[in-house]
Amino acid sequence: MRISVIGCGYLGAVHAAAMAKLGHDVIGVDSDLRKIEELQAGRAPFFEPGLPELLEEAQASGRLSFTSEMSAVSTAALHFVCVGTPQRRGENAADLTYVNAAFSDLTPYLSEGAIVVGKSTVPVGTAGRLAASLAEAAPHATVAWNPEFLREGHAVSDTLNPDRFVYGVPAGHQGLAAVSALDEVYSASLAGGTPRVVVDYATAELVKTAANSFLATKISFINAMAELCEASGADVTLLADAIGMDERIGRKFLNAGVGFGGGCLPKDIRAFMARAGELGADQALTFLREVDAINMRRRSRVVELTRALLDGTLIGKRITVLGAAFKPESDDVRDSPALSVAAQLQLQGATVTVTDPQALKNAAQRFPELVFEQDTELALTNAEAVLLLTEWREYRDLDPIAVGGVVKEKVILDGRNILQPTIWREAGWTYKGIGRP
Ligand code: NAD
Repeated sequence: MRISVIGCGYLGAVHAAAMAKLGHDVIGVDSDLRKIEELQAGRAPFFEPGLPELLEEAQASGRLSFTSEMSAVSTAALHFVCVGTPQRRGENAADLTYVNAAFSDLTPYLSEGAIVVGKSTVPVGTAGRLAASLAEAAPHATVAWNPEFLREGHAVSDTLNPDRFVYGVPAGHQGLAAVSALDEVYSASLAGGTPRVVVDYATAELVKTAANSFLATKISFINAMAELCEASGADVTLLADAIGMDERIGRKFLNAGVGFGGGCLPKDIRAFMARAGELGADQALTFLREVDAINMRRRSRVVELTRALLDGTLIGKRITVLGAAFKPESDDVRDSPALSVAAQLQLQGATVTVTDPQALKNAAQRFPELVFEQDTELALTNAEAVLLLTEWREYRDLDPIAVGGVVKEKVILDGRNILQPTIWREAGWTYKGIGRP
């Protein structure tokens, strides 16, 4: 099938390349010329494991190209809209400027029977509104909503082998046409047994925000338990292991630490609350305010724990932060807890050096006031405290004896509870985890 992908960021670039790998002819469009130049040259404009190889393979097949010209999509039968929906400045609600612009830029180029498939995460009601305006401007086209559940760091495999597909479609023959077009796009995965759920627009939009809210709640739940463990001397990692053995609860997403961040969970739960308010259902989501508050409290808690480890003052202290990305295997620093903590420490008088295998370029753009050092050993040299805030494998595998030879003070705060406390303590370190005695 001939497909266009509008918006080639973390979601769209991977989606475009994956669709080409599945055998479709794909044209990717983005308004960011720098991104398009990179993609045209076969380079991934951001770090995502497996994406360079996927881009190379897809471009070599001749089935994948990129442009900044929307007119190039006129021959496509199906269009995926993958543009950003960030948090509105100074508000909780989602900024739909980019989605609205993508739909109106696309409208003049829609061929007879074209299907426009939204993949961006949007407030419930958006697809219906866009479909209503498209029904006037391009009555021959159909809108569907097909939310995306990929995880950065696993985006390639998640796109090629998702857990499920959700299609939000209108009633009647237009809905049937959208379902059969999407079935054709995803035929390989569907044949492999991936389930698909066909629903109305509102349900499809809510599936995405509900899933993110559930995950955020699970993380904040265990972080709240970490607060209680800290107050009572219990160990939250053992607590999580024990409650996670109950299969109704499960162990995944029960890792206490510095909390969640990134370009999705924080802004999605806030947009969800804002939308619930508009719908007069704000009471249903007041618990998400607490989920958000618990999450943000983790960041200040890490600052306070660091101060306590440094004898009560941060002023003039040399601190090394391991990790800048919001999660490992990504260079995404949007709302990164690691950078948020690093910036707070710096503001309170510490000299903070941040290191990360992939995310330093993005981090330096957001927080130019911090010191960045690519080389882990150089970053650790003379540190008076080390904070592990993004759980990259290479930090998990650090040798406490070797690191002990370069730092000034053997003090480590494990903000992700991934190190073995006994090994670090035996090597002479003061080890502090989150919610662990
Ligand atoms: P992103 O900022 O990385 O990418 C968005 C891209 O859209 C940018 O490259 C931007 O230049 C482009 N763009 C904006 N307006 C445009 C227009 N009118 N025409 C063409 N291009 C335009 O964002 P992202 O992380 O890829 O997220 C995109 C959407 O997908 C968001 O709604 C997000 O919530 C959702 N989502 C993201 C992920 C993820 O892990 N990143 C997962 C699931 C869902």
